[in-house]
Amino acid sequence: MSVKIQNFTVFNKEVSIFASDLCKYTNSSEMKKYLPLFLILLLPLFACEKSDDQELLISRSIIEMATDEDITNTAIPPSGFYNPYSYAGNVKLKGQMHCHSTNSADGNYSPSELAAMFKEAGYDFFTITDHDYITTEPPGNELIWLCNSYESTQKAHLCVYNAGSVLKGVLSIEDVIDYQVYKRSAVVGLAHPGWLKYPVATEDLITSCKGTSFVEVWNGTMNTSLGENGTGAWDTMLSNDQRVLALAVDDLHAAGHLKKGWVEVLSMSRNRNDIMFALLKGAFYATNGATIDAVEYRSDTITIRTGSSTAITAFYGMDGVQLGDKIVGENAQYRIMGSEKYVRAVVENKGKYCWTQPVFLK
Ligand SMILES: [Zn+2]
Ligand SMILES: [Zn+2]
Repeated sequence: MSVKIQNFTVFNKEVSIFASDLCKYTNSSEMKKYLPLFLILLLPLFACEKSDDQELLISRSIIEMATDEDITNTAIPPSGFYNPYSYAGNVKLKGQMHCHSTNSADGNYSPSELAAMFKEAGYDFFTITDHDYITTEPPGNELIWLCNSYESTQKAHLCVYNAGSVLKGVLSIEDVIDYQVYKRSAVVGLAHPGWLKYPVATEDLITSCKGTSFVEVWNGTMNTSLGENGTGAWDTMLSNDQRVLALAVDDLHAAGHLKKGWVEVLSMSRNRNDIMFALLKGAFYATNGATIDAVEYRSDTITIRTGSSTAITAFYGMDGVQLGDKIVGENAQYRIMGSEKYVRAVVENKGKYCWTQPVFLK
């Protein structure tokens, strides 16, 4: 009988070594003869590429990096700043984090039709967030399927990513977060917080939303009725020690909702684990059309490289206060004073916007 003595992971493939196998080879007089063959057989395990069909792996440690604990638990540079773009990879991917299929009562397109529409529109990855229903990867999908998700609509709307089950009933924000984030391996984003039907009170933003990783600062379908772009709720959360990251989304239900808002993720690869890692670390931009080439942080200076002479960059800190004057052109810099709590930038270009994630100060 074999005795399993060790498990280890090679590119997410679990490999077991059995004691009997080791004994057979180490004791055999023919070991030298067969050792090269044994090594050749093992080689594919180490040479294989990550594939997109692997299970999405989200560890508690990654989730916690997007919450209160990250400042104390993770790799804060010695200077005391947390720069999310230090985790940026070289693969820029366009993604949709909020949309609806016919599995929502008010969605006009089937999941497969959505996949084809996002492919045609130049997206690299997406997920479908139907109302209190988990839609799985559509047949014929050619994009990267980020994870299974749904939008909890019992009260305040929360998008639940990497969802294994839908929590139903009359739910508070805390109920959803407690179940999905702390008892399951899900990630929660606060959807359209300014929506007048279920406006999220300031007190709830401060106390109830802890454990939320994302907040929508731009929702392409809802913003025409919201009258504000969601950064007010975001600044309230950031100013009250919640390390929440900004999303821009289509929230597509029907024709005309496409390409209204998306994220540009700076991933290490096209693998969805790497994409989720970059999302949870904050290595991405939220945008409804404007672009940013790079965010650089050196010493105490943040540089936004817009690559456009018509770009207008503004920096914001604690309580959403604008820091300094707006800067026009291809490069915009801000020198951190130390009292801002966080510094984030918004680039406006020809009426479109791109939001950076904040650099968090100690
Ligand atoms: Zn909603
Ligand atoms: Zn929605």
